[in-house]
Amino acid sequence: MEPDPVAPPAGGTAASVWPPPQPSSSLIFLGTGCSGALPDTRCLIRASTPPCAVCSLGLSLPPERNPNYRLNTSLLIDYCHDDGTHKYILIDIGKTFREQVLRWFVHHKVPSVDSIILTHEHADAVLGLDEVWVVQPRNYRNEIKQIPIFLTQFAMDSITRRFPYLVEQKPEDGDEDAQAAKIDWKIIEEDVEKPFVASGLEFVPLPTGAGQLDLLILEANALHGVGDAFSTHLTLSETLDAIKRIRPKRALLIGMRHFFEHQRENQMLAEWSISEGIPVQLAHDGLRAFIDL
Ligand SMILES: [Zn+2]
Ligand SMILES: [Zn+2]
Repeated sequence: MEPDPVAPPAGGTAASVWPPPQPSSSLIFLGTGCSGALPDTRCLIRASTPPCAVCSLGLSLPPERNPNYRLNTSLLIDYCHDDGTHKYILIDIGKTFREQVLRWFVHHKVPSVDSIILTHEHADAVLGLDEVWVVQPRNYRNEIKQIPIFLTQFAMDSITRRFPYLVEQKPEDGDEDAQAAKIDWKIIEEDVEKPFVASGLEFVPLPTGAGQLDLLILEANALHGVGDAFSTHLTLSETLDAIKRIRPKRALLIGMRHFFEHQRENQMLAEWSISEGIPVQLAHDGLRAFIDL
C-alpha cells in the first residue's frame, strides 16, 4: 500500500502540524443576527398569514447552508503570530454561544479561546459566559489556563450581580458537572481612544483619524425607514450613509433582523456597491474573512 501522502513524516509526533499551515489571520463570523437570533421563534409558534418569509426560510435548510439562520452577533479573531502560532480572541459571548461552538468551532477547527472582549452587558453579548470553561485553553500539563476577559466597569458591575460564581471562580452551587472557570477580569477604561492589548493584538475601541479602513463591520438592524427615533440601532439606509462617509475598502453588515432576506438584500447591495464604488455585503454565520492584522 502506498504511504498516505498527508501523513506526518517519520518521527513526527502527534503534535506535529501536517501539512504546515499557511500563516494568515482571519475573522470568523460566529453570529450575524440580532439579540433574539433568527429565526424569530415568535414567527414560527404564532405564524401570521402569510407567514414570515425570512423566518420560514430560516428553517428550510440546515443552518450551515442557510444564511437566514443568524445567531447572536459575535466575532472570533484568529490571530496568526509571526512564528505561525494562532491565538483566538472572541468578541462577545451571547446566549447562543453553545450552538456557535458546536457549529463553527468544530467546522473551522478552533480548539480554544485565548481572550474575550465584551462590548456590552446585554444577554446577547454575555449570557454564554456560563460556558466559558468549555473553551478555556490548557497548558502542557492539561491544566486550565486563566482566560483574560476585557470589559468596562459598568459591564463588570452587571456581571458581578448576575454571575457571582464566575467572579468568585467556583462552580455554581449544585452543579457537579461544571468546572470553575478561571478568569482574569480586566477593566478597560471608558475612553474610546485608549488602546488595550489582548493576546498580543492591539485594540483601539474607536479609532479616530485613521487612514482608510481595510474592512468595516457595521450593523444594519432594520430596512429603510423601519427604525424609529428612539432605537439605538441603525437602519440599512443609515448604515449605507455611514459607509459612504467613512469610505472603507470593503464593508460587511451584521445584526440583521428578519426584515433582511439574505439573497435579496445582497443583490440590492451588489448594485449599490457598483454605483458607490465600495463593496458591501451582508455577512453570514460561519463566514471566514482573511485579513492582515
Ligand atoms: Zn420572522
Ligand atoms: Zn445587546
